[in-house]
Amino acid sequence: MFSIFHYNLLHRNTFGIEAWADRFVEYASEDELVRFVKTERNGQPLVHIGSGSNLLFCSDYNGIVLHSGICSVEELPSDSNDTVRVRVGSGLLWDDLVSLCVDNGWHGLENLSLVPGEVGAAAVQNIGAYGAEAKDFIEKVEVVDMQKGTLKTVANAGCCYAYRSSAFKKQWAGRYAVTHVTLRLNRRFEPNLTYAALAAEFELRGLSQPTAKQMRQTVIEVRQNKLPDPKVTGNAGSFFMNPVVDHETFAALLSAFPDMPHYKNESGVKIPAAWLIERAGWKGRSRGAAGVYDKQALVLVNMGGASGRDIAALSQSIVADVKRIFGITLKPEVMFI
Ligand SMILES: Cc1cc2nc3c(=O)[nH]c(=O)nc-3n(C[C@H](O)[C@H](O)[C@H](O)COP(=O)(O)OP(=O)(O)OC[C@H]3O[C@@H](n4cnc5c(N)ncnc54)[C@H](O)[C@@H]3O)c2cc1C
Repeated sequence: MFSIFHYNLLHRNTFGIEAWADRFVEYASEDELVRFVKTERNGQPLVHIGSGSNLLFCSDYNGIVLHSGICSVEELPSDSNDTVRVRVGSGLLWDDLVSLCVDNGWHGLENLSLVPGEVGAAAVQNIGAYGAEAKDFIEKVEVVDMQKGTLKTVANAGCCYAYRSSAFKKQWAGRYAVTHVTLRLNRRFEPNLTYAALAAEFELRGLSQPTAKQMRQTVIEVRQNKLPDPKVTGNAGSFFMNPVVDHETFAALLSAFPDMPHYKNESGVKIPAAWLIERAGWKGRSRGAAGVYDKQALVLVNMGGASGRDIAALSQSIVADVKRIFGITLKPEVMFI
């Protein structure tokens, strides 16, 4: 176990926010974590982080910041010749996993290439991109109860997965540390071209049946063109979730804003938060060192030296304007700490 008191979190969050934790603890195995919870936690406040790519430290953290150092990858027996089962440590970088899977001919995750963060967080957040979501490949999640130090395995159905959400983010928020995730992947590659903009990109490149490697490479290139690199400009990807409204509310909105983009789904009508923010006049605007990215209004950026409070204040102004203009309350995807 690796443990440091009075720890600077600057390089542990992609916003590049300086904040201090009373203590930082990284465990290398689930046994180490169980021992830590049973003998050292002593009821102190605790938050588990991954790469900090969906977090905003609004102040110093008076407690323990916990991190997984479990980076194992293990192929498990599968009951089908068509699929492969892989048990992965929660501390492995998600994109390292995707790369390894593509190299091994284990398919399904290609569209999720280059999503920042670690495997444990991917199972907590139910990451999604370009028509794919982590939940479609997760078989089970192994966790440690952070109060009792007991082990538990949660099958996919028990995780209550939804859009960028799971039981680990909702009813169990803060209760469990994810130590391992078991994924079920396909041996045969079937390109997922359900996301229209990605399909259009392949058409442009004259590739109607891309290989897995071409799929991964194209997703990486598209992402790199669209999103700011956190190593250059601090950010946490999409700051807000896309709101979903009921059909009646949407009909009223559409008559007031006939060009409002929208996608119908089983729970209502999804409206792109980026469009709402842009229409509210925030795209490319900044307040001090906190700004709205000029190429994608859903991304808030640290232009250098912003504090967590600066970013939070900017986000609150955006929420207020969107509410005033459209009557919609934007919800942050980013976790405030
Ligand atoms: C440039 C950029 C692009 C992005 N693009 C996308 C995208 O396309 N799709 C998408 O879905 N997301 C995207 N994101 C958001 C981010 O990549 C995901 O939310 C990711 O899963 C966060 O991983 P992390 O390891 O950084 O977790 P953190 O941000 O550190 O933590 C996120 C949450 O997970 C919890 N957590 C982390 N690890 C564990 C664990 N082992 N056990 C229990 N809880 C844990 C934390 O407590 C917190 O609630 C993007 C972010 C950036 C910066």
